[in-house]
Amino acid sequence: MPPDFVALDKAHVWHPFTPMQDWCAPDHEPIMLVDGEGCWLTDQHGNRYLDGNSSIWTNIHGHRHPRIHAAIKAQLDHVAHTSFLGFANPPAAQLAGELTALIPGGRLNKVFYTDNGSTAIESAVRMSLQYWEQNGSPQRTRIISFDAAYHGDTLGAASLGGIPLFKGSGNQFGYAVQRISSAEQLESLDDVTSIAAVIIEPLIQGAAGMRVWPQGMLKQIETWCRAHDVFLILDEVMTGFGRTGKMFACEHEDVVPDFLCLAKGLTGGYLPLAATLTTQRVFDGFLGDASEGRTFFYGHSYAGSQLGCAAALASLAVFREERLLEQLPAKVTSFTSVLDTLRAHPHVIDIRQCGLIAGIEIGKSKDPREEYPAADRMGVKACLAARRHALLTRPVVNTLVLMPPLCATEGEMQRMAEALRASIDEVC
Ligand code: PLP
Repeated sequence: MPPDFVALDKAHVWHPFTPMQDWCAPDHEPIMLVDGEGCWLTDQHGNRYLDGNSSIWTNIHGHRHPRIHAAIKAQLDHVAHTSFLGFANPPAAQLAGELTALIPGGRLNKVFYTDNGSTAIESAVRMSLQYWEQNGSPQRTRIISFDAAYHGDTLGAASLGGIPLFKGSGNQFGYAVQRISSAEQLESLDDVTSIAAVIIEPLIQGAAGMRVWPQGMLKQIETWCRAHDVFLILDEVMTGFGRTGKMFACEHEDVVPDFLCLAKGLTGGYLPLAATLTTQRVFDGFLGDASEGRTFFYGHSYAGSQLGCAAALASLAVFREERLLEQLPAKVTSFTSVLDTLRAHPHVIDIRQCGLIAGIEIGKSKDPREEYPAADRMGVKACLAARRHALLTRPVVNTLVLMPPLCATEGEMQRMAEALRASIDEVC
């Protein structure tokens, strides 16, 4: 007899972002995911579900991709993990070369590894602050971020965010975070020489409910940052690796930041790995005799994980070998037409799309627009109903998120939309 995994989970596991009283209720049987293939996941009873948010935006090639499996297995025949503090390893070196070559112009030529999105962000912020501190501008201690931003939930990353629910405190380690809501507001800020960096989720804010920024805003911000010698940090943890229709969201507006933060899809969702790409200028700002204390004293045990880097290299190979970037425009067009089938639904009050990212907002009525109160948890109810229609996803309040793996066929995308329609019909 295998152990009773559900009982063990309910007895001992504390899940992230999860109201645990509901989870542990006697009538709640958690879905225990045991298998996967392509866009599909299978639970403990053999039920199959479409992975509607690519397992929280990570599994860009779906599950059990043979190319990535083979790479991880091959790496295991050498070594799984070695320390990156004071030692190098081949996959990490090769991956740094490949990542930096993906960014046009060669401006981002240094890679700092961590193991999740939050610490990729924290690395960028810490590097910014320390750079200015030890390179003649110690007064640059302000970080500008955006209302409703989400940059992760370690204490430092949460301090940058603008979602009160996630308890950003806005003031850690002697830096100040100021939130703004537009590029125009950025342009009207005073005391600009106290600003270390501007951080933004390019093109679209994820956890805010898939809110798409106005076209041209990113370029406007880049121009302002260059004019005032302020660092630009782009959080591409969600948008990176094809999600928006190009490899990186910043390419849509021909923007190259000072820091590009990557995680989630970096390994195709197979293993935890993150990378903060930056410039020669920033790197040089940390050079000096070891006794000067200019070293970047930051990093994590799994930095540069050999297995993670091998998976990431295989994921990039999948992009090349399957000519994924070339196929993306057609995929995005299919996704748009699939989403269009939901537009007329009386309880769908808005659909926001950016590439293969969609936020489908449900409400009481479309015209006049009337939202559901957050306390009614209609988004949660719709996503729970979606499970009965073989779709797994999560909401942001009343916005249902669809982020199919890039390998999803038009038929699979259609099934996702049909499942959402049936769930909305059921709960609204
Ligand atoms: N930044 C963005 C835009 C994200 O969407 C996320 C996670 O959802 C993060 C940062 C944090 O990533 P992680 O959960 O890997 O720490």
